[in-house]
Amino acid sequence: MASCGHSWSWPVTPEVRALGLGVAALRYASLGYAVLPLEPGGKKPHGMLGDTGGVHLASRDPRVVRAWWSAHPAANIGVPTGLVNQLVVVDLDTKGGYDGPGNFERLRAERGWALPADLAIARTPGDGWHSWFRLPPQASWCPEKPAITAGVDIKGDGGYIAVPPSGRMVHLADSESSRSEEIPVAYEWVTGCPCSPPAAPGWLPGWMAEKRAASPDVPVRQRGTGDDDDLTDIAWRCVHARDDDLKTQKDKQLIPHGKRNEVLYRAGCILMLKHRNEGAAWSRLVAINDTMTAGPLGKRELNVLFRSAAGWSWGRIAELNQVWTASLEATRSLGL
Ligand SMILES: [Zn+2]
Repeated sequence: MASCGHSWSWPVTPEVRALGLGVAALRYASLGYAVLPLEPGGKKPHGMLGDTGGVHLASRDPRVVRAWWSAHPAANIGVPTGLVNQLVVVDLDTKGGYDGPGNFERLRAERGWALPADLAIARTPGDGWHSWFRLPPQASWCPEKPAITAGVDIKGDGGYIAVPPSGRMVHLADSESSRSEEIPVAYEWVTGCPCSPPAAPGWLPGWMAEKRAASPDVPVRQRGTGDDDDLTDIAWRCVHARDDDLKTQKDKQLIPHGKRNEVLYRAGCILMLKHRNEGAAWSRLVAINDTMTAGPLGKRELNVLFRSAAGWSWGRIAELNQVWTASLEATRSLGL
């Protein structure tokens, strides 16, 4: 059992019998993850989702999750990676003779990349490893880009993974008796818990950006082009700048002059979602306006912009609260 007290196996009660893996799917939803049903014992999106949509139909609404697994209790559980779940997963594979774990260790040693001490790692039935990392809420750099090096994939936007306690049929061949059979093997959490994956270490976004730049079929984003993601990136950096950097005004040019309104609006939204408190968000936004652009907006103009950002944010916060409350109720009713 992880130190948070979450166990990922359940006693077989009538409820568990009826919902099957849905009990765990509801737990993921209550932790804030959107989930989707996968084929029983498999990795493809479940047929009940129809031909289109797949991973994009993932939901964290407990009513939806309950309905899916009531109909198909044996469905495996999929969790989309990327911005939708603020999740990036390093997938280390040992299939096909790859030494994913070894290759990843060598790459890390070469580049001097540290890992957090409190990893959240699930073992896959194929003797692979999924290491979970939390993305910052407004990250915009998370493309699906598999095969970083042999046996090492990064799962980002558009991707998904099967999660514990889903099962897979694994082919076992016994060379002595020349018998072969398929047995079900479960994904399992070996360390940490999805309730608290560590934040993505600083080198990870850099690494992904590098891979994105090196890939001919993915357009490379130029800094300062002023497209939406770029502005959100800048706003994110403003919000998370160190207090010292604000004091020394080290980033006086960070916000492009012609894009002050757009960036400050985004920063206001990020601050509101972070603090859920107008006073705290406003004072930080004032500091950002004063120190991170060469020509700060006037206070009155900034306040109008902040009112509008706060209005949007309260709506979003209410939605999030609703989802959380509903998830918690559903989970409580299961006695989990
Ligand atoms: Zn936990």
